[in-house]
Amino acid sequence: MKRIVLKKGRERSVARRHPWVFSGAIDGETPEIASGETVEVAAYDGSPLGYGSWSPSSQIRVRMLSFDAAKVPDEAFVASRVAAAVGRRADFFANAYTNAVRLVNAESDGLPGVVADYYAGWVVCQFTSAGAEFWKKTVAAALMKFAPFCQGVAERADAEVRAKEGLALGGFSVLEGAEPPELVEISEGPCKFLVDTRKGHKTGFYLDQRDARLAVGSLANGAEVLNCFSYTGGFGIFARQCGAASVTQVDVSGEALELAKKNESLAHLCGTKMEYVEEDVFKFLRKCRDGRREFDMIILDPPKFAESRSQLMKAARGYKDINLLAMKLLRPNGILATFSCSGAMSDELFAKVLAESAEDAGRDFQTIAKTRQGADHPVALSFPEGAYLKGTILRAID
Ligand code: SAH
Repeated sequence: MKRIVLKKGRERSVARRHPWVFSGAIDGETPEIASGETVEVAAYDGSPLGYGSWSPSSQIRVRMLSFDAAKVPDEAFVASRVAAAVGRRADFFANAYTNAVRLVNAESDGLPGVVADYYAGWVVCQFTSAGAEFWKKTVAAALMKFAPFCQGVAERADAEVRAKEGLALGGFSVLEGAEPPELVEISEGPCKFLVDTRKGHKTGFYLDQRDARLAVGSLANGAEVLNCFSYTGGFGIFARQCGAASVTQVDVSGEALELAKKNESLAHLCGTKMEYVEEDVFKFLRKCRDGRREFDMIILDPPKFAESRSQLMKAARGYKDINLLAMKLLRPNGILATFSCSGAMSDELFAKVLAESAEDAGRDFQTIAKTRQGADHPVALSFPEGAYLKGTILRAID
Protein backbone atom coordinates (compact mmCIF):
# COMPACT_ATOMS: atom_id res chain seq x y z
CA MET A 1 0.00 0.00 0.00
CA LYS A 2 1.20 3.51 -0.79
CA ARG A 3 2.00 5.80 2.07
CA ILE A 4 1.65 9.54 2.54
CA VAL A 5 3.39 11.52 5.24
CA LEU A 6 1.96 14.63 6.90
CA LYS A 7 3.85 17.82 7.63
CA LYS A 8 4.95 18.38 11.17
CA GLY A 9 2.01 19.47 13.35
CA ARG A 10 -0.58 18.42 10.77
CA GLU A 11 -0.97 15.00 12.37
CA ARG A 12 -2.85 16.56 15.25
CA SER A 13 -6.28 16.77 13.64
CA VAL A 14 -6.01 13.18 12.37
CA ALA A 15 -4.93 12.08 15.85
CA ARG A 16 -8.14 13.73 17.12
CA ARG A 17 -9.96 11.53 14.60
CA HIS A 18 -10.99 14.30 12.24
CA PRO A 19 -11.52 12.45 8.95
CA TRP A 20 -10.22 15.06 6.49
CA VAL A 21 -6.61 15.53 5.37
CA PHE A 22 -6.19 18.65 3.24
CA SER A 23 -3.73 18.75 0.35
CA GLY A 24 -1.61 21.36 2.16
CA ALA A 25 -1.03 19.00 5.09
CA ILE A 26 0.81 16.44 2.97
CA ASP A 27 4.58 16.52 2.99
CA GLY A 28 6.69 16.22 -0.14
CA GLU A 29 5.95 14.52 -3.43
CA THR A 30 3.28 11.85 -3.41
CA PRO A 31 3.51 8.75 -5.59
CA GLU A 32 0.99 8.16 -8.36
CA ILE A 33 -2.20 7.14 -6.53
CA ALA A 34 -5.48 6.20 -8.19
CA SER A 35 -8.76 7.91 -7.36
CA GLY A 36 -10.30 6.29 -4.29
CA GLU A 37 -7.31 4.07 -3.61
CA THR A 38 -6.60 3.35 0.05
CA VAL A 39 -3.40 4.91 1.40
CA GLU A 40 -1.56 4.61 4.66
CA VAL A 41 -1.32 7.94 6.48
CA ALA A 42 1.72 8.61 8.66
CA ALA A 43 2.86 11.51 10.85
CA TYR A 44 6.05 13.45 9.94
CA ASP A 45 8.08 11.07 12.12
CA GLY A 46 6.69 8.04 10.35
CA SER A 47 4.34 6.92 13.11
CA PRO A 48 1.17 5.42 11.64
CA LEU A 49 -2.11 7.35 11.92
CA GLY A 50 -4.40 5.05 9.96
CA TYR A 51 -5.77 4.63 6.46
CA GLY A 52 -7.83 6.77 4.16
CA SER A 53 -9.12 7.11 0.61
CA TRP A 54 -7.23 9.22 -1.91
CA SER A 55 -9.10 12.05 -3.65
CA PRO A 56 -6.70 13.40 -6.32
CA SER A 57 -8.99 16.26 -7.48
CA SER A 58 -10.23 17.58 -4.15
CA GLN A 59 -8.65 19.94 -1.65
CA ILE A 60 -9.67 17.29 0.86
CA ARG A 61 -7.02 14.92 -0.44
CA VAL A 62 -7.59 12.01 1.96
CA ARG A 63 -10.68 10.95 3.84
CA MET A 64 -9.84 8.69 6.74
CA LEU A 65 -11.52 5.30 6.94
CA SER A 66 -9.54 3.77 9.78
CA PHE A 67 -7.68 5.44 12.63
CA ASP A 68 -6.21 2.12 13.71
CA ALA A 69 -2.93 0.93 12.15
CA ALA A 70 -4.07 -2.65 12.75
CA LYS A 71 -7.34 -2.22 10.84
CA VAL A 72 -6.66 -2.02 7.13
CA PRO A 73 -9.82 -1.15 5.21
CA ASP A 74 -10.96 -4.05 3.04
CA GLU A 75 -14.35 -5.26 1.85
CA ALA A 76 -15.19 -6.87 5.19
CA PHE A 77 -14.19 -3.69 7.03
CA VAL A 78 -16.43 -1.50 4.85
CA ALA A 79 -19.33 -3.96 5.04
CA SER A 80 -19.04 -4.02 8.82
CA ARG A 81 -19.20 -0.21 8.92
CA VAL A 82 -22.45 -0.41 6.94
CA ALA A 83 -23.83 -3.12 9.22
CA ALA A 84 -22.95 -1.09 12.31
CA ALA A 85 -24.59 2.06 10.93
CA VAL A 86 -27.77 0.15 10.07
CA GLY A 87 -27.68 -1.48 13.51
CA ARG A 88 -27.63 1.92 15.19
CA ARG A 89 -30.98 2.68 13.48
CA ALA A 90 -32.71 -0.37 15.00
CA ASP A 91 -35.05 1.84 17.04
CA PHE A 92 -36.40 3.42 13.87
CA PHE A 93 -37.33 0.02 12.51
CA ALA A 94 -38.76 -1.13 15.82
CA ASN A 95 -41.36 1.63 16.09
CA ALA A 96 -44.12 2.45 13.68
CA TYR A 97 -43.65 6.22 13.51
CA THR A 98 -41.92 6.13 10.16
CA ASN A 99 -40.57 3.74 7.55
CA ALA A 100 -38.08 6.23 6.15
CA VAL A 101 -34.70 6.70 7.75
CA ARG A 102 -31.12 7.63 6.88
CA LEU A 103 -29.06 4.45 7.24
CA VAL A 104 -25.59 5.82 6.60
CA ASN A 105 -24.63 9.43 7.32
CA ALA A 106 -21.23 9.72 5.68
CA GLU A 107 -18.24 10.81 7.81
CA SER A 108 -20.27 10.65 11.02
CA ASP A 109 -20.93 6.94 10.45
CA GLY A 110 -17.33 6.24 9.51
CA LEU A 111 -18.01 6.10 5.77
CA PRO A 112 -16.93 9.44 4.25
CA GLY A 113 -19.01 10.51 1.28
CA VAL A 114 -21.54 7.71 1.62
CA VAL A 115 -25.17 8.61 2.19
CA ALA A 116 -27.87 5.92 2.19
CA ASP A 117 -31.53 6.69 2.77
CA TYR A 118 -34.17 4.02 3.34
CA TYR A 119 -37.62 4.61 1.91
CA ALA A 120 -40.09 1.85 2.77
CA GLY A 121 -37.89 -1.03 1.69
CA TRP A 122 -35.90 0.82 -0.98
CA VAL A 123 -32.47 2.32 -0.41
CA VAL A 124 -31.24 5.33 -2.38
CA CYS A 125 -27.56 6.25 -2.02
CA GLN A 126 -25.25 9.08 -2.93
CA PHE A 127 -21.50 8.58 -3.27
CA THR A 128 -19.84 11.97 -3.13
CA SER A 129 -16.15 11.24 -2.56
CA ALA A 130 -13.56 9.26 -4.50
CA GLY A 131 -13.33 6.72 -1.67
CA ALA A 132 -17.09 6.34 -1.51
CA GLU A 133 -17.14 5.70 -5.26
CA PHE A 134 -14.31 3.17 -4.89
CA TRP A 135 -16.23 1.14 -2.28
CA LYS A 136 -19.64 1.60 -3.92
CA LYS A 137 -20.32 -2.04 -4.82
CA THR A 138 -19.30 -3.25 -1.37
CA VAL A 139 -21.50 -0.65 0.32
CA ALA A 140 -24.49 -1.48 -1.89
CA ALA A 141 -24.14 -5.22 -1.29
CA ALA A 142 -23.93 -4.64 2.46
CA LEU A 143 -27.01 -2.40 2.42
CA MET A 144 -28.91 -5.06 0.50
CA LYS A 145 -27.90 -7.60 3.12
CA PHE A 146 -28.33 -5.59 6.31
CA ALA A 147 -31.14 -3.09 5.67
CA PRO A 148 -34.38 -4.67 6.94
CA PHE A 149 -36.79 -5.89 4.23
CA CYS A 150 -34.60 -4.36 1.55
CA GLN A 151 -35.92 -4.85 -1.99
CA GLY A 152 -33.32 -2.87 -3.87
CA VAL A 153 -30.45 -0.40 -3.61
CA ALA A 154 -30.07 2.43 -6.11
CA GLU A 155 -27.73 5.33 -6.65
CA ARG A 156 -28.25 8.97 -7.50
CA ALA A 157 -25.09 10.30 -9.14
CA ASP A 158 -26.29 13.83 -9.90
CA ALA A 159 -24.94 15.67 -6.83
CA GLU A 160 -22.73 18.55 -8.01
CA VAL A 161 -20.11 17.81 -5.35
CA ARG A 162 -19.14 14.72 -7.34
CA ALA A 163 -17.50 17.00 -9.90
CA LYS A 164 -15.18 18.45 -7.22
CA GLU A 165 -14.01 14.92 -6.56
CA GLY A 166 -13.39 14.30 -10.23
CA LEU A 167 -16.30 11.86 -10.36
CA ALA A 168 -18.64 11.62 -13.33
CA LEU A 169 -22.08 13.11 -12.93
CA GLY A 170 -24.83 10.70 -13.83
CA GLY A 171 -28.42 9.87 -13.15
CA PHE A 172 -30.20 7.09 -11.37
CA SER A 173 -29.06 3.48 -11.48
CA VAL A 174 -29.83 0.26 -9.66
CA LEU A 175 -26.89 -1.25 -7.77
CA GLU A 176 -28.53 -4.22 -6.05
CA GLY A 177 -31.86 -6.06 -6.14
CA ALA A 178 -34.98 -4.76 -7.85
CA GLU A 179 -35.56 -1.33 -9.36
CA PRO A 180 -37.28 1.08 -6.99
CA PRO A 181 -40.48 2.70 -8.26
CA GLU A 182 -40.21 6.31 -9.39
CA LEU A 183 -42.43 7.39 -6.53
CA VAL A 184 -42.08 5.52 -3.25
CA GLU A 185 -44.73 6.11 -0.61
CA ILE A 186 -43.42 6.55 2.91
CA SER A 187 -45.23 7.24 6.15
CA GLU A 188 -44.21 9.58 8.93
CA GLY A 189 -46.47 10.02 11.93
CA PRO A 190 -49.88 11.19 10.69
CA CYS A 191 -48.60 11.76 7.13
CA LYS A 192 -47.82 9.92 3.96
CA PHE A 193 -45.37 11.33 1.44
CA LEU A 194 -44.31 10.37 -2.05
CA VAL A 195 -40.56 10.33 -2.55
CA ASP A 196 -39.34 11.03 -6.08
CA THR A 197 -36.36 8.68 -6.22
CA ARG A 198 -35.30 9.85 -9.70
CA LYS A 199 -35.58 13.63 -9.61
CA GLY A 200 -36.23 14.58 -5.99
CA HIS A 201 -33.67 16.65 -4.09
CA LYS A 202 -30.75 14.76 -2.56
CA THR A 203 -32.01 11.16 -2.45
CA GLY A 204 -35.61 12.37 -2.71
CA PHE A 205 -36.86 13.67 0.63
CA TYR A 206 -35.80 15.90 3.53
CA LEU A 207 -35.58 13.18 6.13
CA ASP A 208 -33.37 15.52 8.18
CA GLN A 209 -36.36 17.71 9.07
CA ARG A 210 -38.40 14.92 10.72
CA ASP A 211 -38.06 16.31 14.26
CA ALA A 212 -38.82 19.82 13.06
CA ARG A 213 -41.97 18.66 11.26
CA LEU A 214 -43.18 17.18 14.53
CA ALA A 215 -42.36 20.38 16.45
CA VAL A 216 -44.17 22.51 13.86
CA GLY A 217 -47.15 20.15 13.83
CA SER A 218 -47.52 20.37 17.60
CA LEU A 219 -48.07 24.15 17.28
CA ALA A 220 -50.27 24.14 14.18
CA ASN A 221 -53.76 23.40 15.52
CA GLY A 222 -56.20 26.03 14.25
CA ALA A 223 -53.42 28.07 12.64
CA GLU A 224 -53.31 29.79 9.28
CA VAL A 225 -49.96 28.50 8.08
CA LEU A 226 -47.57 29.82 5.43
CA ASN A 227 -45.00 27.21 4.38
CA CYS A 228 -42.22 28.93 2.44
CA PHE A 229 -39.80 26.90 0.30
CA SER A 230 -42.30 24.06 0.65
CA TYR A 231 -40.66 21.62 -1.79
CA THR A 232 -43.07 18.63 -1.80
CA GLY A 233 -45.04 20.06 1.09
CA GLY A 234 -43.49 18.32 4.12
CA PHE A 235 -44.10 20.95 6.80
CA GLY A 236 -47.41 22.04 5.29
CA ILE A 237 -48.85 18.53 5.05
CA PHE A 238 -47.71 17.84 8.61
CA ALA A 239 -49.38 21.04 9.85
CA ARG A 240 -52.55 20.06 7.99
CA GLN A 241 -52.65 16.64 9.62
CA CYS A 242 -52.22 18.39 12.98
CA GLY A 243 -55.29 20.57 12.52
CA ALA A 244 -54.14 23.73 10.76
CA ALA A 245 -57.02 25.92 9.56
CA SER A 246 -55.26 26.68 6.29
CA VAL A 247 -51.91 25.98 4.65
CA THR A 248 -50.31 28.03 1.90
CA GLN A 249 -47.39 26.21 0.25
CA VAL A 250 -44.98 28.43 -1.68
CA ASP A 251 -42.16 27.21 -3.93
CA VAL A 252 -40.64 28.31 -7.27
CA SER A 253 -40.74 24.73 -8.50
CA GLY A 254 -44.03 23.78 -10.11
CA GLU A 255 -42.91 20.16 -10.15
CA ALA A 256 -42.35 20.15 -6.38
CA LEU A 257 -45.80 21.66 -5.85
CA GLU A 258 -47.40 18.99 -8.07
CA LEU A 259 -45.94 16.35 -5.77
CA ALA A 260 -47.07 18.36 -2.74
CA LYS A 261 -50.63 18.18 -4.10
CA LYS A 262 -50.34 14.43 -4.54
CA ASN A 263 -49.07 14.20 -0.97
CA GLU A 264 -52.13 16.09 0.20
CA SER A 265 -54.40 13.59 -1.54
CA LEU A 266 -52.72 10.67 0.26
CA ALA A 267 -53.74 11.97 3.67
CA HIS A 268 -57.18 11.48 5.11
CA LEU A 269 -59.65 14.26 4.48
CA CYS A 270 -59.71 17.15 6.86
CA GLY A 271 -61.08 20.67 6.88
CA THR A 272 -57.80 22.45 6.19
CA LYS A 273 -57.93 24.89 3.31
CA MET A 274 -54.94 24.24 1.05
CA GLU A 275 -53.37 26.75 -1.32
CA TYR A 276 -50.37 26.27 -3.65
CA VAL A 277 -48.37 29.22 -4.92
CA GLU A 278 -45.65 28.84 -7.54
CA GLU A 279 -43.58 31.92 -6.85
CA ASP A 280 -40.33 33.32 -5.55
CA VAL A 281 -40.63 33.52 -1.75
CA PHE A 282 -38.84 36.88 -1.62
CA LYS A 283 -41.52 38.31 -3.91
CA PHE A 284 -44.42 36.49 -2.27
CA LEU A 285 -43.54 37.77 1.21
CA ARG A 286 -43.43 41.34 -0.13
CA LYS A 287 -46.82 40.86 -1.78
CA CYS A 288 -48.24 39.67 1.53
CA ARG A 289 -46.73 42.70 3.27
CA ASP A 290 -48.18 45.10 0.70
CA GLY A 291 -51.55 43.34 0.80
CA ARG A 292 -51.51 43.24 4.63
CA ARG A 293 -51.94 39.50 4.65
CA GLU A 294 -51.19 37.86 8.00
CA PHE A 295 -50.54 34.37 9.29
CA ASP A 296 -50.48 32.52 12.62
CA MET A 297 -47.51 30.41 11.63
CA ILE A 298 -44.77 30.86 9.05
CA ILE A 299 -42.18 28.27 8.10
CA LEU A 300 -38.97 29.35 6.36
CA ASP A 301 -36.88 26.43 5.18
CA PRO A 302 -34.83 27.87 2.32
CA PRO A 303 -32.16 26.09 0.27
CA LYS A 304 -28.53 26.49 1.28
CA PHE A 305 -27.79 30.22 0.83
CA ALA A 306 -24.07 29.78 1.65
CA GLU A 307 -22.11 27.03 -0.07
CA SER A 308 -18.92 28.21 1.59
CA ARG A 309 -17.60 30.75 4.05
CA SER A 310 -16.93 33.28 1.28
CA GLN A 311 -20.65 33.50 0.57
CA LEU A 312 -21.57 33.94 4.21
CA MET A 313 -22.24 37.68 4.31
CA LYS A 314 -24.42 37.57 1.21
CA ALA A 315 -26.23 34.57 2.69
CA ALA A 316 -26.76 36.39 5.97
CA ARG A 317 -28.46 39.22 4.07
CA GLY A 318 -30.76 36.70 2.37
CA TYR A 319 -31.69 35.09 5.68
CA LYS A 320 -32.30 38.49 7.23
CA ASP A 321 -34.51 39.60 4.37
CA ILE A 322 -36.91 36.66 4.56
CA ASN A 323 -36.93 36.51 8.35
CA LEU A 324 -37.62 40.22 8.71
CA LEU A 325 -40.46 40.04 6.20
CA ALA A 326 -41.96 36.94 7.85
CA MET A 327 -41.74 38.45 11.33
CA LYS A 328 -43.85 41.38 10.15
CA LEU A 329 -46.54 39.10 8.73
CA LEU A 330 -47.20 37.24 11.97
CA ARG A 331 -50.30 37.84 14.04
CA PRO A 332 -49.82 38.44 17.79
CA ASN A 333 -48.61 35.18 19.37
CA GLY A 334 -47.72 33.92 15.91
CA ILE A 335 -45.07 31.28 15.36
CA LEU A 336 -42.03 31.53 13.11
CA ALA A 337 -40.22 28.25 12.41
CA THR A 338 -37.04 29.28 10.67
CA PHE A 339 -34.20 27.10 9.40
CA SER A 340 -30.75 27.25 7.90
CA CYS A 341 -29.15 24.24 6.25
CA SER A 342 -25.94 26.13 5.45
CA GLY A 343 -23.15 24.37 7.30
CA ALA A 344 -20.99 27.49 6.90
CA MET A 345 -23.55 29.47 8.94
CA SER A 346 -22.83 29.04 12.64
CA ASP A 347 -25.49 28.85 15.33
CA GLU A 348 -24.21 32.20 16.59
CA LEU A 349 -24.48 33.95 13.26
CA PHE A 350 -27.96 32.55 12.67
CA ALA A 351 -29.05 33.75 16.12
CA LYS A 352 -27.60 37.19 15.35
CA VAL A 353 -29.47 37.38 12.04
CA LEU A 354 -32.72 36.52 13.81
CA ALA A 355 -32.12 39.07 16.58
CA GLU A 356 -31.41 41.80 14.02
CA SER A 357 -34.47 40.84 12.00
CA ALA A 358 -36.67 41.09 15.11
CA GLU A 359 -35.17 44.45 15.96
CA ASP A 360 -35.83 45.80 12.48
CA ALA A 361 -39.33 44.34 12.54
CA GLY A 362 -39.87 46.16 15.81
CA ARG A 363 -41.27 43.07 17.51
CA ASP A 364 -40.44 40.90 20.51
CA PHE A 365 -40.00 37.18 20.19
CA GLN A 366 -39.22 34.31 22.48
CA THR A 367 -37.51 31.10 21.45
CA ILE A 368 -39.75 28.17 22.22
CA ALA A 369 -37.73 25.38 20.60
CA LYS A 370 -34.57 24.66 18.67
CA THR A 371 -34.36 21.83 16.22
CA ARG A 372 -31.57 19.96 14.49
CA GLN A 373 -31.18 17.19 11.98
CA GLY A 374 -32.70 14.03 13.45
CA ALA A 375 -30.91 11.20 15.26
CA ASP A 376 -30.53 9.26 12.03
CA HIS A 377 -28.31 12.13 10.82
CA PRO A 378 -25.80 11.93 13.67
CA VAL A 379 -22.75 14.18 13.95
CA ALA A 380 -19.47 12.57 15.01
CA LEU A 381 -18.01 14.52 17.92
CA SER A 382 -14.71 14.70 16.04
CA PHE A 383 -16.46 16.06 12.94
CA PRO A 384 -18.43 19.21 13.84
CA GLU A 385 -18.72 20.01 10.10
CA GLY A 386 -21.40 17.31 10.03
CA ALA A 387 -23.85 19.62 11.86
CA TYR A 388 -25.39 21.69 9.09
CA LEU A 389 -29.08 22.01 9.91
CA LYS A 390 -30.38 24.35 12.57
CA GLY A 391 -33.87 25.52 13.32
CA THR A 392 -35.35 28.04 15.72
CA ILE A 393 -39.02 28.25 16.59
CA LEU A 394 -40.01 31.68 17.77
CA ARG A 395 -43.22 33.12 19.15
CA ALA A 396 -44.13 36.78 18.71
CA ILE A 397 -44.97 38.03 22.17
CA ASP A 398 -46.00 41.60 21.59
N1 SAH B 1 -38.96 22.63 3.32
C1 SAH B 1 -38.75 21.55 2.40
C2 SAH B 1 -37.36 21.56 1.82
C3 SAH B 1 -36.97 22.85 1.15
S1 SAH B 1 -35.76 22.67 -0.07
C4 SAH B 1 -39.07 20.23 3.04
O1 SAH B 1 -39.13 20.18 4.27
O2 SAH B 1 -39.25 19.26 2.33
C5 SAH B 1 -35.74 24.24 -0.77
C6 SAH B 1 -36.89 24.53 -1.72
O3 SAH B 1 -36.85 25.92 -2.00
C7 SAH B 1 -36.83 23.82 -3.06
O4 SAH B 1 -38.04 23.14 -3.28
C8 SAH B 1 -36.67 24.95 -4.09
O5 SAH B 1 -37.44 24.73 -5.28
C9 SAH B 1 -37.23 26.13 -3.35
N2 SAH B 1 -36.70 27.44 -3.69
C10 SAH B 1 -35.42 27.82 -3.89
N3 SAH B 1 -35.33 29.15 -4.05
C11 SAH B 1 -36.59 29.63 -3.95
C12 SAH B 1 -37.16 30.94 -4.01
N4 SAH B 1 -36.40 32.03 -4.18
N5 SAH B 1 -38.48 31.07 -3.84
C13 SAH B 1 -39.27 29.96 -3.66
N6 SAH B 1 -38.78 28.73 -3.58
C14 SAH B 1 -37.47 28.56 -3.72
